[in-house]
Parts: sequence; structure tokens; C-alpha cells
Amino acid sequence: GDPYLTVDDLHVRFSTEDGVVQAVNGLSFGLERGRTLGIVGESGSGKSVTNLTVLGLHNPTTTEVTGSIELDGQELIGASEKKLEGLRGHKMAMIFQDPLTALSPYYTIGRQIAEPYRKHLGASKKEAHARATEMLHKVGIPNPKLRVNDYPHQFSGGMRQRAMIAMALVCNPDLLIADEPTTALDVTVQAQILDLLRDLQQEFGSAIVFITHDLGVIANMADDIMVMYGGRAVERGTAREVLRSPQHPYTWGLLSSMPRLGGDVNAQLRPIEGTPPSLLNPPPGCPFHPRCDFQDEVTGASCVRDQPKLPDGRAAACHLTAEQKRTFFIEQIKPR
Ligand code: SF4
Ligand code: MG
Repeated sequence: GDPYLTVDDLHVRFSTEDGVVQAVNGLSFGLERGRTLGIVGESGSGKSVTNLTVLGLHNPTTTEVTGSIELDGQELIGASEKKLEGLRGHKMAMIFQDPLTALSPYYTIGRQIAEPYRKHLGASKKEAHARATEMLHKVGIPNPKLRVNDYPHQFSGGMRQRAMIAMALVCNPDLLIADEPTTALDVTVQAQILDLLRDLQQEFGSAIVFITHDLGVIANMADDIMVMYGGRAVERGTAREVLRSPQHPYTWGLLSSMPRLGGDVNAQLRPIEGTPPSLLNPPPGCPFHPRCDFQDEVTGASCVRDQPKLPDGRAAACHLTAEQKRTFFIEQIKPR
């Protein structure tokens, strides 16, 4: 089908005291309804900025945005705040890492879940209250009829996360953006929340953008994966392709830093050396070159000088040949 969300050549720059930060540099991707796109990268890779920009939550006075973001055929760049406000919570919704940024301490959980339902769908107070109770039930809160009247501080961290998911999904949004939604939770609750998101997607058919620095979480959630580095997409493909035969040295680094299930976590953890590139003064050439072990293998193009492009479809932005990408991964990187 046609993508529900289409991002084309997106650039996002902010002015800061130190200069202009080039947070997103020419990013393009599409996402269909019912599919989950996992966006992976370290902090500062541009993944959160991209999604705040999609939602229109960036600061318009300090941020310059160019390119195109189409939601269901409507252009969002340059759209009025009123229009964006009408789309947020209704057609597109967001789940944050910290539910306390989304939930107000002053209102009951039920009222906060009901609010977008009243605002966007014109439901009565009574209908919206019933809907909030139903949503709490759907996200697995016990005794929803009682708990709907609780305040956020009466909920545990895991329950607040569920309440925020209920609030995000109350209007059946077609696009759900989840930014590190389980990072702050313990492993058991994390697994429950991921299961819940999968079930809700089955039920509502939403497109989900799932942002994380954790490839393990992505492996369980995503249909497609986009790896970001220095404000650019450096690799994309189906989850299976990217996880089984990754083509970009940065993705190799992410994969080998990931602890394997049942393995000795400490023995296998091998963080990528070096730091993410400065977005104030991006390095010339390939943004990964200061940290890449493979640049000497490249002939013809120079990693230090020529920025590798990301071709369409299943691809990585790297000057290595297809043959090199295959053999280096198998011989040197792939965990035995
Ligand atoms: Fe490494 Fe060169 Fe590929 Fe960049 S283009 S990832 S520096 S080999
Ligand atoms: Mg972030």
C-alpha cells in the first residue's frame, strides 16, 4: 500500500549559543499502516529530533526545518499549529520514555485519558469516562473502574507507562511514535509493555515508529529497521535483513555491543569505541570514519572525503563493496 507517513529529504537545524546544530541531514523514509519501523542509533543520532519534528513539537523560533513530511497525504512542514494540534493525539500520538512528562499530577488518570477523546471525537463526559475505563482495561490495569479515578502518583511506574499508552491510543491514532518507551522499566515490565504494544497494533492497525538505542528491543518489535548516525540514515532494510546480514560497520558495532540472550552479558558487551560525531562541525566524508575500522579497506572512494549515499531500498551508506560488506561481517564480526 501507500505509505501513511512519508518523510522526504528532511533537514533539521537549530541555532544554539555555540552555533548551528545540524541535527537531521537529508533523511527519507516511509511507513505503511500496520507496520513498525524501528529507528536505532546512539543519542545524538537525530532519531528523537526527527520524530519530534514529525509531531510538530520542535521549537519553531530556533529550529529550521526543510524537506517534506506527509501524513496521509497532508504536508506537515509549515502546517499551522492549529492543524498540528488537531492531528496530535488523534491521527498521530506519542509515547515518551518518562510518563511523568505526559501525565499531569493534578488530574485523575481517567480524566487525562478521556481528554483527547472528548477534544478530537466530540464525546460526552460520560462516554469519554467509559472509554477511559475501557482503555485502562485494554492496557491491563486491574480494577479499571476504580483505578480510573486515581491520580498518577497512585500508580506504579509500569502502570503509569500503561496509562500513557492508553492515553496515546484512545483515539485509535494511525501513527504511534514510541520514543524509548520501556528504557526506564525493569525487564519484566518492559517485556509486558512490548507485548501490549504488539497486541494493540494488531487491534488498531496503527503504523508504529519505535525509537531505541537497543537492537535487542528492536529485534522483537520492528518489521523494518533504519539505523541512524550523525543525523543520517546509514542503513535500512527489513528487521531480518538488518539483523542477520547487516551491511554497515556502525550496525556491526551496535550488534556486537548487544548482549545475547543466555550468554555471559559481560563477556559479550563490546561498546563501539569513540564518540558520535559533532553536529556543530560534522566531519567531512563518511560521518562514521573517525570510528571505523574498515576505512583502509576502501579503494577508489575515500571515506575521509566522500560522503557515501544511502541508495533506495535495502541498503547501507558505506563505500565498501557488496562483497566486502558480506565477508567482513561473516569473517570478523558475526558472533560465533
Ligand atoms: Fe567505514 Fe568508509 Fe564505510 Fe564509512 S564509508 S562506514 S568510513 S568503510
Ligand atoms: Mg532520545
